Amino acid sequence: MVTDMKANVTYWLDETADRLPDKIAFAQDGKAVTFRELQKQAKAVATRLMELDLFKKPVVVYMEKGVDVLVSFMGAAYSCNFYSPIDVDMPASRVNKILEVLCPAAVITTAALRNNFEEYDWEGEILLFEEISHIQVCENKIEAARHRGIDTDLLYVLFTSGSTGVPKGVTITHRSVIDYIDWVTETFAVTEADSFGNQAPFYFDNSILDIYSTIRSGATTYIIPKNLFAQPVLLLEYLKEKKINTIFWVPSALIVVAKLKAFRNVDLSDTLKRVLFCGEVMPNKQLNLWRKYLPDVQYANLYGPTEITDACTYYIVDREFSDDEPLPIGIPMANTDILVLDEKNEPVRGDGIGELCVRGTSLSMGYYHNPEKTREAFVQNPLNPFVPEIIYRTGDLVKYNEYGELIYLSRKDFQIKHMGHRIELGEIETAVSSLEEISLCCCLYDEKRQKIVLFLEEELEKAYINERISSLVPEYMLPNKVIVLEKMPINANGKIDRVKLKELL
Ligand code: AMP
Repeated sequence: MVTDMKANVTYWLDETADRLPDKIAFAQDGKAVTFRELQKQAKAVATRLMELDLFKKPVVVYMEKGVDVLVSFMGAAYSCNFYSPIDVDMPASRVNKILEVLCPAAVITTAALRNNFEEYDWEGEILLFEEISHIQVCENKIEAARHRGIDTDLLYVLFTSGSTGVPKGVTITHRSVIDYIDWVTETFAVTEADSFGNQAPFYFDNSILDIYSTIRSGATTYIIPKNLFAQPVLLLEYLKEKKINTIFWVPSALIVVAKLKAFRNVDLSDTLKRVLFCGEVMPNKQLNLWRKYLPDVQYANLYGPTEITDACTYYIVDREFSDDEPLPIGIPMANTDILVLDEKNEPVRGDGIGELCVRGTSLSMGYYHNPEKTREAFVQNPLNPFVPEIIYRTGDLVKYNEYGELIYLSRKDFQIKHMGHRIELGEIETAVSSLEEISLCCCLYDEKRQKIVLFLEEELEKAYINERISSLVPEYMLPNKVIVLEKMPINANGKIDRVKLKELL
């Protein structure tokens, strides 16, 4: 049988498990898996999925963050199905919306979470990780499935906030992850000698870099306990103790460390080699503190949305910046084309401002089960009317600097980044509007104070509103401030006047 070694990410796992069978692949507090164990357990999960005759079907993974989640992901991949992680802390109504979009063919969970899952509006095969991860592996079936599957089959679906209140499922193929991770591991020369300190939740695209760089290169990833991110000194001690030399975190996590100057207590100069970040603006003010205390580390700013697997441009920090200068998002990654288009859909000239659009092998196939939203954002390249060629419109406004590097400026729409989370303000507005007392509401983001501000006409307390909507949106979307107005300002088009509201922040 001729196999295309590059058609499925699990071939990486096979190679690494043969090369480094006893090396730790992933570790969390009190638990770890070697590459061989990861491979074996994942194949067991795959075998069970194939007993259900599933092929190219969505499989939900509903488990607490940990190594078993990654075994389940790989199990879905070995069987040529695709996984979609659901955060166990997500409000029930949002989980139900995701289940409605995804219509999963099976759910992998644990005995402890089974009852929770049974509360949701879904009926189907619930598989318990404890029961399926050690069954007899059927190698022949796995080989047959992988031979049938092709590289443009889906590997996973990650859900992001949707402005109408329905989360959007970003679809990503094996090929896209292979393309992206080839770039990551080559650019940063990742090898089995490296150790990653994972911060990103597995339902967030930044985790793709940690997970798949580890599997491809034989590195080790430590899943850092979440509570450490609120205790910077302990966090840095953890990095030192585990000899973690590479971190890829959201800037919010790096900022907390910088603000408390935790480096004064823990010397990481012999430990940390690379500090990579992505997901939101990294202010030079805080980056300069990192650079002051750890001058020999390689720093890189990666930029991109979930729709391009994780990132599509990068800037390896190679010069000094003053605290108030923006840090470039840099240049396109290999095999990635960046177009900066103005309002007439023409490429900007000089330092003109335009929307960053992207095409490349690591581009998503669109939003799962949502052709309408897919059509809005994934469009024909206006610069190529000759053959079908899809670009993704990110909604990010950028310009070029004098070095030809891209500079991120702002969003064109109402999507924000709050503590590293991607949020559509419309999703919060939809939740608030569903309360019967509310007639009109509007949400804005106060960038300076990093607060989600809700404007209302009704005399309602923040605590009351947040309690009521906490069953609809995740905790990080709850408004931080409520401003009650006698009358909502309306503009000439009869819409809420957001410009006037901004003045009230
Ligand atoms: P997500 O899909 O959660 O990764 O969010 C993608 C969005 O985060 C992008 O469209 C940008 O608005 C923002 N973003 C990602 N990386 C950066 C960066 N390095 N600098 C500024 N904004 C970023």
